[in-house]
Amino acid sequence: MSAFNKNGWVSLAEICDERQLVTDVETGKKVLRAAYFSSMNAMIEGAYQFARFFEELHQNGKVYCSISPEAFYFNLKSGAFHFEGEELLGEAYVQAPDVEKTDFTEFLAPELVEFLAEGPEEQEGTEDVETFRECYSFETDRYFMAVYLFEYFFHTGSPFEGKKMVNRCFLSPEEKELFRAKEGRFCMEPGEEENIPVKGIQDKLIQYWNEYPEILQKMFQKAFLDGGRLRELRPTEVDWKQLLVRMAMDYKSCHCGFHGFSYRLLQKENGTLACPKCGKIYYPLTNGLDRILLAEGEKLYECQTGRNPMDKDTVTGLIVENRQKKGLYGIKNVSQGVWRGFYPDGKLKDIPNGQGIPIWNGMSVRFELGEEWNLRLVQQTEERKEDEDEQTV
Ligand SMILES: [Zn+2]
Repeated sequence: MSAFNKNGWVSLAEICDERQLVTDVETGKKVLRAAYFSSMNAMIEGAYQFARFFEELHQNGKVYCSISPEAFYFNLKSGAFHFEGEELLGEAYVQAPDVEKTDFTEFLAPELVEFLAEGPEEQEGTEDVETFRECYSFETDRYFMAVYLFEYFFHTGSPFEGKKMVNRCFLSPEEKELFRAKEGRFCMEPGEEENIPVKGIQDKLIQYWNEYPEILQKMFQKAFLDGGRLRELRPTEVDWKQLLVRMAMDYKSCHCGFHGFSYRLLQKENGTLACPKCGKIYYPLTNGLDRILLAEGEKLYECQTGRNPMDKDTVTGLIVENRQKKGLYGIKNVSQGVWRGFYPDGKLKDIPNGQGIPIWNGMSVRFELGEEWNLRLVQQTEERKEDEDEQTV
C-alpha cells in the first residue's frame, strides 16, 4: 500500500457524515471533527478530478469494476483528489470482479444487481466469471459515478431512497437493491410524489438540493431517469466535466464576502444583476445560450474565451477600471489570443494581449473561437427601437 497521509483528506463516507475521525495532535486521542470543503470551488474541483479519473481510465480501455466508493479521497482545502489503489491500475480491469465478495449496495447499476441476484450457482466456473466481468462496462462505471456524485454533493444516501423505499421493510441488502433496480424511482424526480425524500431521514438532501444550480439537478435527473436503466442516457465523464466547469464559472465570490451561484444575484429590470449584499452590478455578456457575468474584479477563463473548453483555471481576461475614465470598466485581454471588439457605434477593433474593450451597452466581443458575445441591456424606448432594428439586419 502507498504511504498516503490522510490528514486533511476525506472519503465519501466522511463527506456525507460531515465529520471525520482524526487524531488530536496534543492528546493523541481520536476525536470527531467537522469535515467540510473549505469552499465551493474546492468541492467542484474534487468532483471534477473524480470525473477526470474515470475519463482517463476509460480512455485507456479500463473499467473500474470495484463498486467500492472507499478508494477515493479529497483534500478539504483544495479539492485535490487521490485514488488509493494506484497499484491496481495496470490491469485491464481496475479490480477483477469477485461475485462472492460483491456487496449489494446502491452503487451497483441495475443490470449488475439483476445479474448478481440470479444466484451464485449459475455463476460457477471460469465461463461464468467471464460473463460476470462482461457485465461491467463504461456504463456501469457511469452509474457508479452518478450515485457517487449524488452522495458527494448532497451528503446523503442512495438517490432512490425516498418515501417508497424508506417505508418498506427489506430482509436483505440484496432484496432492497433488487427492488430498487426493478421498481426504483429517483427521489428527486420532478412532479413525482411517490418517492420524495423524507423529513427526519433525508434532511441534508432536502436542504442542499435547491442550493445548487438547476443544471446540476437536471444532470442527476437525467442520470437516474427510469431507474437509471437507460444506460445510453447515463452522463459520461465528459458530460460531468463540462457541467462542473459551468458550475465553477457560475459561482461568484464578491469582494464584500458574498459567495453563491449566480441565481442568487438579484435580477434588475434593465437585465443586469446585483450582488444581494453590496449591490455590485454584474453585466451579462451572452452568446444566446450561456452567459459571462462582467463585474469589477471578475476574471475570464480559458474555457470561456479560449480553445480549451475544460480549462477553468487559466485566466484569460480581467475586468479593470479605465485609467482615464473613472467608473468605466473594460475587459482586458491577458491571453495570447486576439479578440475582436464591436463597439456600439459600429467601430471594430482587434484586441490583442494587454488591450481591452469598454463594457458598454450594445458592445459585442468575439473571443478566440469567433463566437459572438453581446451585452444588450433594456434601454429607453428610443434606444430600444434602434436595437430591434439592428437585430433584424
Ligand atoms: Zn457583493
